[in-house]
Amino acid sequence: MVHTTYQCRGKISKAGLCRLDWIRSVLNRLYNSALEERKDAWEKEEKSVTLYDQLRGLTHKRRNDPAGLGSIAVKAERGMLFRLERAFQAFFRRCKAGENPGYPRFRPISRMETIDIVDPKTTMVKKRARGYAIRPKGFPTIRLFPTRPLPDGELKALRIVRKPNRVYVDLTYEVEKQPFPKCASAVGIDLGIRKRAVLSTGERIERNTRDWPEIRRQQRRIARCRRGSNRRKKRVRRLAGMRYREGVSNRNACHRQTTGIIRKNGLIAVEKLDIKGMSTKGLKRKGLNREMLSQQWGLLRNQLQYKAEWAGREFVEVNPQYTSQDCHRCGARNRPGRSETYRCSACDLRMDRDHNAALNILRAGVLALGAETWASGPSVVPELCADVKLDI
Ligand SMILES: [Zn+2]
Repeated sequence: MVHTTYQCRGKISKAGLCRLDWIRSVLNRLYNSALEERKDAWEKEEKSVTLYDQLRGLTHKRRNDPAGLGSIAVKAERGMLFRLERAFQAFFRRCKAGENPGYPRFRPISRMETIDIVDPKTTMVKKRARGYAIRPKGFPTIRLFPTRPLPDGELKALRIVRKPNRVYVDLTYEVEKQPFPKCASAVGIDLGIRKRAVLSTGERIERNTRDWPEIRRQQRRIARCRRGSNRRKKRVRRLAGMRYREGVSNRNACHRQTTGIIRKNGLIAVEKLDIKGMSTKGLKRKGLNREMLSQQWGLLRNQLQYKAEWAGREFVEVNPQYTSQDCHRCGARNRPGRSETYRCSACDLRMDRDHNAALNILRAGVLALGAETWASGPSVVPELCADVKLDI
């Protein structure tokens, strides 16, 4: 069994949206007051308030405030208290690990996008003539029109996310794994800066380009507005919407690419990433850019990993050391030049630098996996594995 999340765009009436924003403000106050309670209790009496104390306290709060907290589904309110608990757990964990974490903070309403409905019932999602609808107690009706029908599995998590220009509903279901038919080919993937990734087949995945001039233009327009003005808010919303759409299309592109790779290959080898280490010693001048890119690498890698698991594919991470320096054909180690072409001084190989690295990664992946697990045999790029001793 695996968990799969369907993100659906929610349709909601104008009045409903107002209601949802009001609910968010109520839940936000609940979060902040719960945080205050914990903070005060510790600062004044050195007493710690637990999640269970607060869950119990919630009952009283609901009774005393029938028009506010009392009118909203209790599961959404518990979700807020759970979230606070998670913030504290993370804080304590980091304290224990000797890090220097910040104490959980009070949140403004603008940082309260997500409403978690804990322990949802599968029947909460109602089937309609067209699409579906949810309506937890006190919430407006949110209609859903997913592009594929929702699965029959059990609903495990339900969250409502208010984004700058729309509302999403995330539904997490528990479903059966669906392995893909067996596949004998293998692929190595080199993640790069100039290109997002190069496959050992020579195929390349271009990186996303952002419309930086437009982003800058809008940022300048925002900067010209008076702080706190309506016009500023409107422009901030517009920019946020633009960047959000960009993020979505980027993620979707990533999904298409990774699904394609998983479909076509039985073994996927990538280099082991150390994103944290890279960003500290990496190119300082391009620090931000690089960080952004490294996140995309992480996205690509994570998608490959979980999809490989679902589809019953082998996913191997290999040590990236020397993958860009060694010649994939003869194994000689060459000094990497600045040029995009890889030149081997021993066997006079000339090819794309990243392509060579991808082939090295594939080779290391096949080696790491060994012959037993790789039952489909060395039909994997035969010339590449000629000197790899596989007993098949
Ligand atoms: Zn060579």
